[in-house]
Parts: sequence; C-alpha cells; structure tokens
Amino acid sequence: MTPISSADGCSAGRSITWSPSVTLVPTRACFNACGYCSFRRPPDPADPLADALGDGEARAALVARPWAAEVLLLSGEVAPHSPHRAAWTTRLLDLCRLAWAEGRLPHTNAGPLSLAEMAALARLNGSMGLMLEGLGPAYDVLHRRAPSKQLEVRLAQLEQAGRLGIPFTTGLLLGVGESQADRREALEWLARLQARWGHLQEVILQPYRPDGATAQRLSAAEQADLLGTIAEARRILPPEVHLQMPPNLWPLEALPAALEAGIDDLGGIDSGDVINPAYPQPRPTELAAVLERSGYRLVPRLCVHPAWLSWLPTAVQEQARRAESRLLASTPSGPWS
Ligand code: SF4
Repeated sequence: MTPISSADGCSAGRSITWSPSVTLVPTRACFNACGYCSFRRPPDPADPLADALGDGEARAALVARPWAAEVLLLSGEVAPHSPHRAAWTTRLLDLCRLAWAEGRLPHTNAGPLSLAEMAALARLNGSMGLMLEGLGPAYDVLHRRAPSKQLEVRLAQLEQAGRLGIPFTTGLLLGVGESQADRREALEWLARLQARWGHLQEVILQPYRPDGATAQRLSAAEQADLLGTIAEARRILPPEVHLQMPPNLWPLEALPAALEAGIDDLGGIDSGDVINPAYPQPRPTELAAVLERSGYRLVPRLCVHPAWLSWLPTAVQEQARRAESRLLASTPSGPWS
C-alpha cells in the first residue's frame, strides 16, 4: 500500500510527521506507583477495573474526533498474576475492536504484556508502544514501587515485540536526574535492539515536566541540554528510527532547534494530553505555521510509519488503508484549523 503520509524530503521542505490521534484510557488504576505519575489511581483491591472505560464513552470520544486515524489506548496496569488480568486484557481487545468498527487504527501502550497478550493485541494494532524510560540510579529511585518499570522487564518486552515483528514505539523520559552516561547507555541498548530486530519505528525523547496547575516552561539551559541528547540519539540510533518530541512539552518557538538537532516526528496529537494535562497541545495549524517559517512541512501519518506497514498482518494493513482516508481530513487546512 502507498501511504499518503510518506515522510520523504520534498521541495516544500523537510517533512515532520504527526499522527492525528484520540486517546482512550481503559483504566487509570495501576499496580505500579511511579514517583513522577499523576495519571494513576490506586486500584480498588476488590475490583481494580471499577473505573474501566465503557463502550459508550469510548465511542463518544471517537465520534467527537472524526479526524483521528489513530486510537491511542493508554492504560494503567493490572499486576501480571492478578485474577483481574484476563478481564483487563479483554477490555483492551474490545476497545481495539471498537476502534476498528469506527474505522480507526489502534496503538496500544499498556505496560508489559505476556507473549500471548502481546500477540493477541498485535492482530488488532497498527503499532504498539512501551517506554524504556531510562536506566541508572535516578530511575531506580522513581521506580522503587513500580515492578513493571524494572530495566530487565522493559528490555525483555522490547525484545519480545521484536521477536513478534511488531512495529514499536519506545522512548526515554529525560531530565529526572539521570547522567549523560545513563542517557547514552539507554540509547545504546535501543540501538542494539534495533540492530537485532529492526522493529523500533520511533523513539520518543520526552522531557520530564512537573505536574501542577500551570505548565513550567523548559529553561534555556534545559533546552540546550536536551538538544545535545537529541543530537546524540541521532548519532547512536540507526537512521530509520524516527526521533519524536511531544510538541506540548517543548517551547513552540524553539521547536525548529529540536528539528535541526534530529527530531523528525511529533507523535500522536489529541486535543489534550492525559499524562501532562497542564501542558496544552498546540493546534496543528500553529505547528504547521511555525514549521513552515523554518523550512519544514507538517505531514499527517498513521500510527505505523510507512516503512513498517508491510510488517502488519493483512487484515491490519486493510484497516490501515481505511484509517488512512481520515488523514486527508486532518491536514492543517482541515477541520483542525
Ligand atoms: S506505570 Fe504508568 S500509570 Fe502506572 S504509575 Fe507508572 S507512569 Fe503511572
């Protein structure tokens, strides 16, 4: 299939991609308790899925965002051997089927999965994701009450996704006190995984931003530090791996500097950010204008990047084709403007 969102260079400027997206949260209940998380709700031991997202609410969210080709399922986690795990997995699969029924392509990020769970979700997802987060003492402290964030668990998941041939998104959470050497080592792990499996379609370089009522802008020093890491990531990771920056976490007028350093993708963009609600998403029209002034053009894409489309099962490729038609309506001159 020939996607309309091919991110090749062109005379109109280098392409920077984004995925028009709607986020569904199957549950905020999570057995982990990461030190930086304000998304989580403590699970009710009797019924961890008491707050589970229902079909009606999910369908309404999709209908409200007809331009969104991607449905991002972003879930709190149920412990691996919990008696509630099967119901949680079933809810994820049912929400993926609901996304299909509405002509969308799911991308699930729900924490570590068993081989069978991941394989079942891969039959319905255009791509899947799991942040590596990072490695070293700063993360060890933040993850001391988060068993599924242990480095060996994360690396095993990335390996498992590679073995299953799933187009995959991972990333690093940056600025939590980690050293430059920690960042480099994490990127080198990802480069080795990519050399072995080739499934890492994008790596998110996510600046840590504190929660609160209002956004705290990255300082000039923080930006300079992160620009160095973006450039280093571009040097360490193979060229086919897209580098992604969430545009709501980086000052809009400084975005061209991040693109110059190596960012070429802005990820899934919904009308808000459920993880960082104090940091509003820029409108795609604003993004397009900023990019255009610096010689770039903003191009919509599916959650799966073009180079990995042929990795998908035939039925998922057909669903990708159906979802693709929505991208035409989500260009900056479309309903977003
Ligand atoms: S795993 Fe995700 S949802 Fe759970 S506590 Fe950590 S950051 Fe929050």
